[in-house]
Amino acid sequence: MIDVNSNAYTLDTYTKGKYLCEACPYIYDPEKGDPEGGIPAGTPFENIPDDWLCPICKVDKTHFKKINDSVKKGGF
Ligand SMILES: [Zn+2]
Repeated sequence: MIDVNSNAYTLDTYTKGKYLCEACPYIYDPEKGDPEGGIPAGTPFENIPDDWLCPICKVDKTHFKKINDSVKKGGF
């Protein structure tokens, strides 16, 4: 058996759903979640409670940007 499917899954989800904090270098990775902040691994950013704060600089969710969009389009 060739394990092609697991490879494809890993590539597809590598950047999917990651969010970058605008105020510090923290990146929210839904695969890891934020266990110390009460967010279990596997939680999409959209499902994080609005009162969740960046574990490093304590800004709220409105200061996070989706990585896929900003990286691909740039737009300066
Ligand atoms: Zn931050």
